[in-house]
Amino acid sequence: MPRLSEVLSALDALWPPERAESWDAVGTVCGDPDAEITTVLLAVDPVQEIADEAAKLGAQLIVTHHPLYLRGTTTVAASTFKGRVVHTLIKQDIALHVAHTNADSADPGVSDALAGALGLRVVRPLVPDPTDPAGRRGLGRICELDHPLPLREFAAVAAARLPATAQGIRVAGDPEALIRTVAVSGGSGDSLFDQVRSAGVDAYVTADLRHHPVSEATQHSPLALVDAAHWATEWPWCEQAAAQLDEISDRNGWGLRTHVSRTVTDPWTVHLSSSGAPN
Ligand SMILES: [Zn+2]
Repeated sequence: MPRLSEVLSALDALWPPERAESWDAVGTVCGDPDAEITTVLLAVDPVQEIADEAAKLGAQLIVTHHPLYLRGTTTVAASTFKGRVVHTLIKQDIALHVAHTNADSADPGVSDALAGALGLRVVRPLVPDPTDPAGRRGLGRICELDHPLPLREFAAVAAARLPATAQGIRVAGDPEALIRTVAVSGGSGDSLFDQVRSAGVDAYVTADLRHHPVSEATQHSPLALVDAAHWATEWPWCEQAAAQLDEISDRNGWGLRTHVSRTVTDPWTVHLSSSGAPN
């Protein structure tokens, strides 16, 4: 059975920390390098429910996509919600490791997993990493549909294939427009609109889109927008990462048990269609 330090070396090879964005906070939040690892829990958010789930499961390592502390801290007191997570983890001998923007830009990365979940064929990165001679790493992915679909039906496929959340799927654009090419970016995708427009795709699948960028994007061009819950766009990465870790475990004879959390940690809990005036 491997030590934490051996598992972390394997994870750093999948998602090298130096490829994270400069503002990001990736890597190991807590954990003893000499601890023995038998069970790993993969999740999107390092929140209390996930720490409790790991304890119940008997996991010694949680791998999450989102950082616990993005901006640093001066306290891990259990009176703060993040400090309580740290206390739970340390008391239960559970390590926490974060792969965020280094997992976004990896090959395969978060957007490959999203494209796979949607049944799309990946053509190339939306924003290629210039240091990758193979041209496969980078942010977002440009994809093709094997069979073009009207936007309405494409959105229905996304709603059926992505894990269930209260938000579901929001769509901007002509529901009858034919979708052949799609840009995807797991997580908040507002910042990539310029690149999506230059790519000339029919639709963009991402999360957290805001009024003004959406209004401007749809006024500029017939680009269709499909906005899913942030958690739902990144959760497919957990399954992809678990499969990668399983393969490494088999190769090394580690016998690791990997478990993907099914707990929905998207913070939105209810979505209602409004019906007041004007209507
Ligand atoms: Zn995210």
